[in-house]
Amino acid sequence: MSKIKIMSKSLANKIAAGEVVEKISSVVKELVENSLDAQATNINIFLVDSGFKSIEVIDNGIGMDKEDAHMCFIPHATSKLIHEDDLFFIDTLGFRGEALASIASVSKVILKTSNKDMGSLVKINGGIIENENSSDLREGTSIIVSDLFYNTPARLKYLKSEASELASCVSLIERLALSFPNVSFTLKNNDKILIKTSGSNNLHKCIHEIYGLNISSKMIEIKACSDDFDLDGYICKPEILKSNKNHFITIVNDRVVKNYDINRAINDAYYTYKPDTKFPIVVLKINTDPTLIDVNIHPTKQDIKITKINVLYDLIYNTIKDALYKTLLIPDAIKKPEYNEIKDNYIENFIKEEERKEDAYETSNQVSFDLSVNEDKEPVIVNEELKKLVLYPVGVALGTYIIAQNEEGVYLIDQHAAQERINYEKYLNALKKKEISVIDSLFPVTVELSNSEFLIVKNNLKVLTDIGFNVEEFGVNTFIFKSHPTWLKEGYEEEQVRKIVDIMISTGGTFDPVKFNEHIAITLACKMSIKANMRISMDAVEELLSELVVCDNPYNCPHGRPTIIKFSIYDLERMFKRVMN
Ligand code: ZN
Ligand code: ZN
Repeated sequence: MSKIKIMSKSLANKIAAGEVVEKISSVVKELVENSLDAQATNINIFLVDSGFKSIEVIDNGIGMDKEDAHMCFIPHATSKLIHEDDLFFIDTLGFRGEALASIASVSKVILKTSNKDMGSLVKINGGIIENENSSDLREGTSIIVSDLFYNTPARLKYLKSEASELASCVSLIERLALSFPNVSFTLKNNDKILIKTSGSNNLHKCIHEIYGLNISSKMIEIKACSDDFDLDGYICKPEILKSNKNHFITIVNDRVVKNYDINRAINDAYYTYKPDTKFPIVVLKINTDPTLIDVNIHPTKQDIKITKINVLYDLIYNTIKDALYKTLLIPDAIKKPEYNEIKDNYIENFIKEEERKEDAYETSNQVSFDLSVNEDKEPVIVNEELKKLVLYPVGVALGTYIIAQNEEGVYLIDQHAAQERINYEKYLNALKKKEISVIDSLFPVTVELSNSEFLIVKNNLKVLTDIGFNVEEFGVNTFIFKSHPTWLKEGYEEEQVRKIVDIMISTGGTFDPVKFNEHIAITLACKMSIKANMRISMDAVEELLSELVVCDNPYNCPHGRPTIIKFSIYDLERMFKRVMN
């Protein structure tokens, strides 16, 4: 019996956004998702000239009977939605049913499909069926879409460059391959294989097949669950970072999705483990009750809305943070480039466009790092692996890099970055404390300000008294600081007080105390740390190393730069050709 039913008019209208064929990859996406819906375990995508000439998808799925092969090109046909109520329980991929008809209306399509009992062939040009016949009997479906937009040249112009359209296809298949590690995908453009996965149903192996060994060996497995969400996947060590968020791959109930809050949770969890402008590779699978998600808010079907998003945010944020905290993250000095460079170049081009879009999106949504989430939670796990790490100082090179060694190799430690991290955590902990110890200033600091600056500080005096300053007005546009918290570094009180007032003024008077504290901690940590090219004694070096290894995140300065880099003995032996490979 035919599995495809005509969607009711009202249901079709409900999914009003409709399927828009806007680029090559949206055609590829539709075809591949149909293959996935047909339970294919082997999907080959062959592009000619990046899909501009033709797009062919061959699968080993369950195939269609004669009637379905005909019906799938009729507008509003879908086998996936039958009742309007089903809209609330959508769990198949391509639920609109419009897509194949719209693709066929702007291209030349040849469909061959077989459900074992019968094979059918449909040829359709510009939406008009030219030929229907029986075909050979191989279970599965093959569909060739050629000359896309041949009859609508105006739309052809909207396609981007070949490189860019191809990059978009590569990115799409990468995401799909990672979300279906049980399916073997091959993506070929002309004669070049760009992606090949084995369908081993092993996510780590699939990451290896897509990103190469250098990256897959630096992925950390994560797993967690709450009442509503199951989470598992892989996150990368911060030593391999990308310049865009394109490698945040999030899969909710087996569907690749984009969700602003999920991305924010990932990015926030890496806070201070990376610079703001760099992003990790993360593959996250989330399973949840389908009633908690609304997939129908965006016509591209990638955007979803999640009920209880705050619970999910916390789960993702805490899981990634813990995983980073528990893992030894000292980057190796030697990188072995392996990632398919051609693919990378295609992707880079594509990404630039995507980034622009994302930036526009994010500025309109006002991204800001939300520190309040984890505020009171002190980490409970101790970074055992790092605590065991003993670093024997050897000396200081270039007045900046501490050289240390142990039985595993040689380490270089940036003296400024390392001390900045130590000081940052000290300041932040002191600022978070409920009881503050305060000391009278030996020489009270007076700060003279402009009119507007004076008003900002005056309006926020409580913020200053809350962190342990005794401040009073002292004549025209002037404040006097009579006592200060004991965590201010001795001998530099005036400098630090002025810095804190500067930070307060730079906020323009809108206050988030958590961010204010964060800002103070970063700024003072940087100011109060030994600079590059400053001599320090070996005693000071030893103290610095022992303080560094007990930090919450000893691997990065608060700006996300690395503090410590490792040359393993093997790396050194290779460089000196003591070993050859
Ligand atoms: Zn600094
Ligand atoms: Zn820094």
